[in-house]
Amino acid sequence: MKAVLASNNKHKLIEIKAMLSGKFEDILTLKDLGIEIEIEENGATFEENAYIKASTIAKMTGMPAIGDDSGICVLALNGEPNIYSARYAGEPCNDRNNNQKLLSKLHALESDGKSVDRTAYFQSVVVLCYPDGSYVSGSGRTYGKIIDEYRGSNGFGYDPLFLSDELGKTFGEAVMEEKNTISHRSRALKDLLEKIV
Ligand code: IMP
Repeated sequence: MKAVLASNNKHKLIEIKAMLSGKFEDILTLKDLGIEIEIEENGATFEENAYIKASTIAKMTGMPAIGDDSGICVLALNGEPNIYSARYAGEPCNDRNNNQKLLSKLHALESDGKSVDRTAYFQSVVVLCYPDGSYVSGSGRTYGKIIDEYRGSNGFGYDPLFLSDELGKTFGEAVMEEKNTISHRSRALKDLLEKIV
């Protein structure tokens, strides 16, 4: 089976392709198909947004499409930024500003000397959607803590501030293969693959 990835995020494309290449005959990107599209993510959950992306591309191409939506949820911030992770500090999306906003919010809670639970998790939902609109979804999480200093320059988004419980280092310090062993996206893909194979 061939599939199209309904994403333009280079980092996610590399991660998803690396993990799914053995399972699909070929995985094409939107760029491979010459498709330039900005899909409005107006769902209320990660799953709704992943479905919106996958179903739009599946209908457009007539091929099964894989859409994902992901973000970070910080317990002390009642789960923020959640589905708004990419645009937390406003448009246009800017990783550094998003990270700074997250730290400012935690610092504000800590300003009167209170200790705050910095536990956070990345959540990913991956949807494989067929041109008729039917779909299968998988989800995954990975836990860690938000630290105050930026560590490492690998990855993207909140990676340098996310100290992984399982790796004992930030995702910014981890190489892609390490991150892929425990990442929310790899777990979501594994969950999806178990349902379709
Ligand atoms: P999406 O492209 O709508 O799924 O937005 C996901 C956003 O969540 C990204 O722009 C990042 O800010 C954040 N995010 C999701 N996955 C990761 C990850 O693996 N590392 C760092 N940040 C992530």
